[in-house]
Amino acid sequence: MSIPSLEQLHAMGAAQQPNYDDPAAVAAAVARLRTMPPLVFAGECDELKAKIAAASRGEAFILQGGDCAETFVDATADNVRNKLRVLLQMAVVLTYAASVPVVKVGRLAGQYAKPRSSDMETRAVGGEQVTLPAYRGDAVNGFEFTPESRRPDPQRLLDVYHASASTLNLVRAFTTGGYADLRQVHTWNSEFVRNSPVGQHYEAMAAEIDRALTFMKAIGAADPDEFHRVDFYSSHEALLLEYEHAMTRTDSRTELPYNVSAHMVWIGERTRQLDGAHVEYFSRIRNPIGCKLGPTATADDALSLATKLNPTNEPGRLTFITRFGAGKIRDGLPALVEKVTAEGVDVAWVCDAMHGNTFEASNGYKTRRFEDVLDEVRGFFEVHRALGTVPAGILVENTGDDVTEIIGGGEELTEQGLAHRYESVVDPRLNRVQSLEMAFRVADMLRKS
Ligand code: PEP
Ligand code: MN
Repeated sequence: MSIPSLEQLHAMGAAQQPNYDDPAAVAAAVARLRTMPPLVFAGECDELKAKIAAASRGEAFILQGGDCAETFVDATADNVRNKLRVLLQMAVVLTYAASVPVVKVGRLAGQYAKPRSSDMETRAVGGEQVTLPAYRGDAVNGFEFTPESRRPDPQRLLDVYHASASTLNLVRAFTTGGYADLRQVHTWNSEFVRNSPVGQHYEAMAAEIDRALTFMKAIGAADPDEFHRVDFYSSHEALLLEYEHAMTRTDSRTELPYNVSAHMVWIGERTRQLDGAHVEYFSRIRNPIGCKLGPTATADDALSLATKLNPTNEPGRLTFITRFGAGKIRDGLPALVEKVTAEGVDVAWVCDAMHGNTFEASNGYKTRRFEDVLDEVRGFFEVHRALGTVPAGILVENTGDDVTEIIGGGEELTEQGLAHRYESVVDPRLNRVQSLEMAFRVADMLRKS
């Protein structure tokens, strides 16, 4: 099996692509990317596929998390470590409190391209209305609101490759080199978090884990090497056809095409047209793939997508990431799950608890309410429990830093508090404390389900 050419894909009408003004520079960047080594191996992608399949049977739980949009300036050691640390903390809470293995998937090492609701952005600059191309992520243009910065620059596709390579290299070092060792659970808790109520809850749990590990060691029931490393996978929205196509290679073992820029890639809510270029491309690659489904998706849409994206019904191949919003999930999700299940189609259902809950605060900040995020997850568990189907995981947008982007949580962040440390260039993220709180609350729901 092979994949269509870039030209064929573009001819299908690809949504959300940049308007580059220099085709020769685009071609040069793509040619260069085609020569770059893979960032992941096909065998690793298959391993993740098997784990997602286990989650779809209820034998594991998927935790997918990270930034809405990574940026090049933030691809630093501190940032990557903080992000990884909070995801490891969330995972250990879910594993310990609910007694299931957690499949850890980062929105990182490639999450640089963003779909936007409008192509242009207008701002008042020095008393004048100025209109420039919208920011589409560091993969396309700069966030700064100037004509030079907002011009789509194909050279950035190579910058994405290099930033992703260095991020993934660090993640691999952290997760296999001892930092992610289960005996380090205490050290993942920072001073700041330790002093919060949820941080103390975490400390107590970490002490129990220590005792359990010591016990297992004492009775000779555990191989310390088992605790030494964790499996951690990369994922991003495969939006830019130039980049994703250039990073698609034939696996030497199977002669099948894999996207080797990430273990898992997903189709966004704005590019999931059944006859569009993205769905066509995704139907050809052999990675585990995700597809977002929002409130406008019908049960027939879900079934058609599942049939096109996973025609052989391979377990773990397709994850439907639903993002209805807390107010809509209980009414909207059942029809989709029922239809897909009734047709015997194998998918993993993951709850994106973020993207249906975004709104603009009175002071202009794009935000979400912590309680809405939790309520969407609660609705997700309720729907699956009622239908006898499996809630396979959650997707969150979060960061390892103490930002102030989401209202509520134990620290009761208010609208006024958003201005204190709002750093996201696109969507608001859970901060460290909110992430940890969410993990404990979701662990309760998971245990009960
Ligand atoms: C995202 O995951 O950041 C995103 C843009 O989501 P969606 O496609 O569901 O809007
Ligand atoms: Mn987002």
